[in-house]
Amino acid sequence: MNARAHELKVREVISETADAVSLIFDIPTDLTGRFTYAPGQYLTLRVPSERTGSVARCYSLSSSPDGDERPTVTVKRTPGGYGSNWLCDNVSAGDVLTVLEPAGNFTPRSWNRDLLLCAAGSGITPIMSILKSALRLGRGDIAVLYANRDRPSIIFATQLQELVRRYPRRLTVVHWLESERGLPTARGIAGLARPYRRNDVYLCGPAGFASTVKQGLGQLRVSERSIHEEKYRSLTDNPFEHATIAHPDPVGPVPVASAESAIVTVDIDGETHTLPWPRTKKLLDVLLDHGIDAPYVCRESACATCICSVKQGRTRMLMNESLIEEELAQGLTLACQTLPESDSLHISFDQ
Ligand SMILES: Cc1cc2nc3c(=O)[nH]c(=O)nc-3n(C[C@H](O)[C@H](O)[C@H](O)COP(=O)(O)OP(=O)(O)OC[C@H]3O[C@@H](n4cnc5c(N)ncnc54)[C@H](O)[C@@H]3O)c2cc1C
Repeated sequence: MNARAHELKVREVISETADAVSLIFDIPTDLTGRFTYAPGQYLTLRVPSERTGSVARCYSLSSSPDGDERPTVTVKRTPGGYGSNWLCDNVSAGDVLTVLEPAGNFTPRSWNRDLLLCAAGSGITPIMSILKSALRLGRGDIAVLYANRDRPSIIFATQLQELVRRYPRRLTVVHWLESERGLPTARGIAGLARPYRRNDVYLCGPAGFASTVKQGLGQLRVSERSIHEEKYRSLTDNPFEHATIAHPDPVGPVPVASAESAIVTVDIDGETHTLPWPRTKKLLDVLLDHGIDAPYVCRESACATCICSVKQGRTRMLMNESLIEEELAQGLTLACQTLPESDSLHISFDQ
């Protein structure tokens, strides 16, 4: 079992719409630090399965750490989907679920900037968390552009209305309902987003919606760099079924670089390890092989849980679905996709 997995009791289940529920978790006092989260992050839930033992599914936190007492995720049924329907049908207050610690980097760097938050359907979940924190902590103006099938399918409709009432000068919420206007179009989005085109954009929704929003914003000459996107998908890997303890670090002579391996010094959880890093092996695999409890969820570059910083040496990533240019320029990388290019490297997982 993944060392970052914990058993959490579901305190309450709230039915948000006909096909979405929120699960509110109780966090025991000894896990409070482990479940401290940033707005926009997500939890990974273990969903039992008779077929495979379990599947792992990520759900963004819809609660805000700046005001909501307990972490809450909101799950919308995916038609024909296994995990989301299991959670909607089976979880009741008092049940215990196995959950990984919060992860993800879909979080604004500053709370005082003007924001354009774009969501469709269950994509509202991380947007809601960001919105509540930005209103409480920041001074910027915020526009929410929110697409749904029809009025009854709007998750958090009442909460959004209440926020507009409380922050009338800072918050504007624009709904796009397919029942009234058809599917969102790039031109329609551009029309609605025009007043907010200089805001930082946070976007979450199905692929078709995300691409329409990006096209619409492109028509307004919004640079791709100011668009931050959270992509939903189901994990194919299962972090709950991997043991992290493999072969503990042997105590021996300090390794030296060779044609086959570079040498890497890794700072993680306040400890420092020096290891050979085979040139064709990804950093996360090297760490797990040595019994080092490196953080990870998807192992496919999508979740950014294994984010770390290259302090010395050159590396390259095989795939990158999470980090934007600015983060790459700061030396950030994803351990699950990183190979060494230099002989000697220093990587840090610690802030
Ligand atoms: C960072 C992130 C945040 C997310 N946040 C949210 C959120 O806030 N809210 C939300 O609703 N969604 C969210 N998602 C999406 C969510 O993780 C799931 O992808 C979504 O709920 C669909 O999962 P599903 O299992 O229902 O559907 P699918 O993944 O489409 O289910 C089908 C899959 O399950 C397998 N399967 C079918 N039956 C079984 C069985 N009996 N045993 C084992 N496997 C089986 C099939 O082989 C198939 O691969 C997020 C995703 C990511 C990556």
